[in-house]
Amino acid sequence: MNIKDCKYIIVGAGLFGATVAERLSREHQVLVIEKRKHIAGNVYSHFDPETGIEIHDFGSHIFHTEFDEVYNYLSNFTEFNDYVHTVNTRHDNKLYPMPINLDTINLLYGANLSPEEAEKFVESEAEKTGIKDPKNFEEKALSLVGEKLYTAFLKNYTKKQWNTDPKNLDAAILSRIPVRYSHNNRYFITAKHQGIPKDGYTKMVENMLSGENITLKLNTSFKDIESEIGPDTTIIYTGPIDELLDYKFGTLPYRSLRFEEERVENSAQTEAVINEADLDVPYTRTHNYKYYQIHHPEIVNQPISILCHEYPADFKQGGEAYYPVNNDDSEDLYQKYLAEVKTTYPNLILGGRLGAYRYWDMDVCVKNALDLVHKTFKY
Ligand SMILES: Cc1cc2nc3c(=O)[nH]c(=O)nc-3n(C[C@H](O)[C@H](O)[C@H](O)COP(=O)(O)OP(=O)(O)OC[C@H]3O[C@@H](n4cnc5c(N)ncnc54)[C@H](O)[C@@H]3O)c2cc1C
Repeated sequence: MNIKDCKYIIVGAGLFGATVAERLSREHQVLVIEKRKHIAGNVYSHFDPETGIEIHDFGSHIFHTEFDEVYNYLSNFTEFNDYVHTVNTRHDNKLYPMPINLDTINLLYGANLSPEEAEKFVESEAEKTGIKDPKNFEEKALSLVGEKLYTAFLKNYTKKQWNTDPKNLDAAILSRIPVRYSHNNRYFITAKHQGIPKDGYTKMVENMLSGENITLKLNTSFKDIESEIGPDTTIIYTGPIDELLDYKFGTLPYRSLRFEEERVENSAQTEAVINEADLDVPYTRTHNYKYYQIHHPEIVNQPISILCHEYPADFKQGGEAYYPVNNDDSEDLYQKYLAEVKTTYPNLILGGRLGAYRYWDMDVCVKNALDLVHKTFKY
């Protein structure tokens, strides 16, 4: 495919780029370029050859959505299994359901409160703090759930996640703390659909990109081909906006992560994810990947587990950008880049989590891609 003659070039073979490419390829030839050596962006996963365990290379991914449109669309490329996500948090070597529910409260306080009693109790704990006008994250959390729940589950977890004292974080980060006065421990309580692609995330994206009108070039960065792009080409760009403009106004802030895997026999962890709330454990989450593959009992029941410890990390320019740090300053910087992109690249449409500088779950990402194709290209 001659780059100069391409009508559509999609930069990035993550979920956003793959969705736009798949939709446009029903009518047009499309070129997808990807700077990594693999497709699927941050939902990329691979199967461990010895155990068949699916390893989520960029962190655990659980598909969940309220949008039928997204579920139906992705179901053209994968079947989802029936995995339902639940999470426990480890504190003082005990496991507590997360988000906080009636069982969490009763376990932590050694009580046996009814839903009504628990609600009044947490309100009174919050009132005891006397905080009416919270000035920072810590005060906000204390004003919502009181000292004991905050100290057990939020204080040190947040400190590890942001590498700073919660007193230094903006109160606005925390709009609410979900507390359920019931035994319901489903993590995604409002999800109409949830599950894990039966043949893995990478296979799902591979199927999306398999159409004969799609040409895929891996190991190819936008800057490698930019000079060859013709004036009539529409570019859909899903990479970082600051990198596109050579960081001319500075680097947009992100938090990053690093992952450490270990192969363990007969692990005591019999669930997919445990949050680690205490400071003496340096990581924030432990993943036991095989518990996502409930459609393969032989994988779940084997003695071997591949555990992955997730460590929060500072982000450096050009490193792996995971969570955008959205605040007034970063929003101003993002808007400055956005205005500049519009004048420098009039034929470029920004998309995806990096282009939008937002944390998007997979379903929001696919929904935005479908909406873009529908509104802009009328398909
Ligand atoms: C730790 C973590 C856990 C998550 N867990 C969940 C979960 O459980 N459930 C859920 O729904 N969502 C989850 N998400 C969100 C999910 O990862 C995103 O919604 C999704 O990956 C976004 O896809 P994307 O295409 O926008 O971006 P990406 O997946 O980042 O894809 C962008 C692609 O563009 C490529 N690219 C960038 N710049 C260039 C360039 N200049 N030239 C060529 N290629 C380029 C990149 O290499 C990348 O492959 C999680 C996110 C994180 C950080």
